[in-house]
Amino acid sequence: MIRATHLSKRYGGKMALYNVNFSIGKGEVVGFLGPNGAGKSTTMNLLCGYLEPTWGKVEIAGVDMALQPLEARRHIGYLPEIPPLYMDMTVAEQLSFACELRRLPQRGGALRDYVDSLCRRTELLDVRDRLIRNLSKGYRQRVAVTQLLVGSPEILILDEPTVGLDPRQIREFRDLLAQLAQEHTIILSSHILSEIRSSCSRILVFNEGTLIADGQPERLQEELSGRRVLLAEVRGGGEAVAQALAAVSDVLSVEAEEDGETRQFRISHRPGTDVRGAVYEALKPLPCTLLTLRSQEVSLESLYLEITRRNEEA
Ligand code: ADP
Ligand code: MG
Repeated sequence: MIRATHLSKRYGGKMALYNVNFSIGKGEVVGFLGPNGAGKSTTMNLLCGYLEPTWGKVEIAGVDMALQPLEARRHIGYLPEIPPLYMDMTVAEQLSFACELRRLPQRGGALRDYVDSLCRRTELLDVRDRLIRNLSKGYRQRVAVTQLLVGSPEILILDEPTVGLDPRQIREFRDLLAQLAQEHTIILSSHILSEIRSSCSRILVFNEGTLIADGQPERLQEELSGRRVLLAEVRGGGEAVAQALAAVSDVLSVEAEEDGETRQFRISHRPGTDVRGAVYEALKPLPCTLLTLRSQEVSLESLYLEITRRNEEA
């Protein structure tokens, strides 16, 4: 649905984004995570065609953004960091205006019905005739998101949509998102892991203009929250190895990756525990060879350091 290749952006002399590559499939809900200045908004603006990349390419549903921007943008609803809302309009007026901007053919009664159907979808019917200035921040955000649904774009891109919302509003926003996720491919950004963890099936971590991690939230969360990970490379032993490792006390989970004739086990264990001795003892009776055993301490920062080091070595 979305493909970014070698995406790079320079502002004046400063590289804001450097060689970012990813693709996002239909129906995915993806979080862009990273500290301020990491390049999340820049990437979103490039995906929406509001900025031109210095290098690289954006394709939306197979359409090259540089060659057919209007056709590519038709698939996208974009909510910028500061939502475009008119305080002196009512909710219904704002949504009708969004229909005009999207050049929807509806007029009069048909337009009113269409706006009502939008309001029904996002539970705005109760406030449809209220002025936007009189709505809570949570409702304003809901109106801003509803605007994006005009014309039913397949992709929704939301830049820091929970900034300024209180915890209850954040929860309501999450429910709205879950509902929208049934019909749309969604990208949202945040600098707070916990805010997007539960909503997203995949998280891309940005730092200083590069993409430093891409994975399922459970795994990233584990890594970013400082859960300790031990990497064990093992030859032979079959199924019994994973079982023996999982049975070691303080071990939380074990994941295996085939690597030719050896297997790499990621052993997550409780912070503050050292399970190396127990792991060694657990494998001793099995018909296998423990080739390497090393600790991996992963926080956002160390993950970043590790990956940049790996890139330099490559
Ligand atoms: P994020 O959304 O992750 O906070 P941004 O994409 O907004 O990050 O910014 C990435 C980097 O690009 C930052 O260092 C920022 O200062 C810089 N930047 C963003 N927009 C501009 C601009 N219009 N002109 C110059 N520099 C910019
Ligand atoms: Mg931003």
